Amino acid sequence: MEEAQRTPPTCPAITLAGAEPKEGVRGGQINRGQMNSQHKKYLPRLIAWEITRSCELNCIHCRAAARYGPYANELTSEEIFRTMDNIANFAHPIIILTGGDSMMRKDLFEIARYGTNLGIRMVMSPCGKLMTDESVGKMIESGIKRISISIDGATAESHDNFRRVSGAFADAINGIEAAKRNGLEFQINTTITKHNVAELEQILEFAVKAGAVAFNPFLLVPTGRGKELAEQEISPEEYEKVLNWVYEKRENLPLQFKPTCAPHYYRIFRQREKEKGRSVTPKTHGFDAMTKGCMGGQSFVFISHVGRVQICGFLDTECGDIRRSNYDFEHIWTTSPVFLQMRDQDSYHGRCGYCEYRKVCGGCRARAFAATGDYLDEEPYCIYQPELKPKKTKSEVI
Ligand code: SF4
Ligand code: SF4
Repeated sequence: MEEAQRTPPTCPAITLAGAEPKEGVRGGQINRGQMNSQHKKYLPRLIAWEITRSCELNCIHCRAAARYGPYANELTSEEIFRTMDNIANFAHPIIILTGGDSMMRKDLFEIARYGTNLGIRMVMSPCGKLMTDESVGKMIESGIKRISISIDGATAESHDNFRRVSGAFADAINGIEAAKRNGLEFQINTTITKHNVAELEQILEFAVKAGAVAFNPFLLVPTGRGKELAEQEISPEEYEKVLNWVYEKRENLPLQFKPTCAPHYYRIFRQREKEKGRSVTPKTHGFDAMTKGCMGGQSFVFISHVGRVQICGFLDTECGDIRRSNYDFEHIWTTSPVFLQMRDQDSYHGRCGYCEYRKVCGGCRARAFAATGDYLDEEPYCIYQPELKPKKTKSEVI
């Protein structure tokens, strides 16, 4: 994903990836026999790491409600290095350095270099304001492979009005231009709301013309300052239309185009392929068949600026704490009760618990939580009525 957590970067689908992370462990550094099959099945493949919450902007929809800072108690470089060592010892993920604005972190390049030296693909999501030829040069030197920049309107006026930050569009363009001048890959992320849903086609055209390698529209999750934007959410029916539009547009584009944190896209994708008489397999559909909707706690994870571990940046439920676990991230990943719940789609509530698409979709746990306070509840922005029947409750069985 997708400027940092300010928009979507946190999500798995977020994919600030650019290259699929290798599943499994780093060669020779762990005894595979020690890992049980569940452990091997669920390895972190994408980690959004909020290395700072400080940000020069103050965007209205920021999930972190970030401000200039500084924030107390942020993980130190040493603590980050220690945790990265632990991660690299059992998995081989992509790490997204996010924020706030990750550029506000003074040791940004040391952190990136450390991860790179461990063999981790490092990417980041700056807001663009602080990017110069010099800083982009340092990003490249430290091994940053790709950045994501958020564009939330087809024009400066639209983007700045949405973010309620004058000059935010110019900052984003500054970041894109600096990346282009220096040959650094960039992708564009867009948070879809009522204000820009009619501009999506134009933003896609902009991304193509600008030379982005990917365009990831993101479905708003009304958390953080985004709560104030709840009335900006498009309706479930409109989501359905937008996701169908993505399906129709995605072919013959010179960039990767897929929605982020829109799990039911993968249901629509399969429905539409089925209508054409095609089943979705890795052989026929490659990456589209191998990826899925919400990957939070299954192959995606978020680490906050103070070391709190969550399934994603939008669901503020603690799954573990880096410091309290003595920097043993692997222990949190394999034992957190919340992560274990995320990996058992059959235990989800409402339609998502019995839907035939639950293994490839799963619904957005953060939107469920925002709607009902139960992160296992059904995705409130999906209109699909499963063909399967609801599971019987214990009392009904008895
Ligand atoms: S009901 Fe839930 S699992 Fe099924 S498609 Fe909708 S969001 Fe996905
Ligand atoms: S819970 Fe929602 S916002 Fe979080 S990773 Fe899953 S789909 Fe994305």
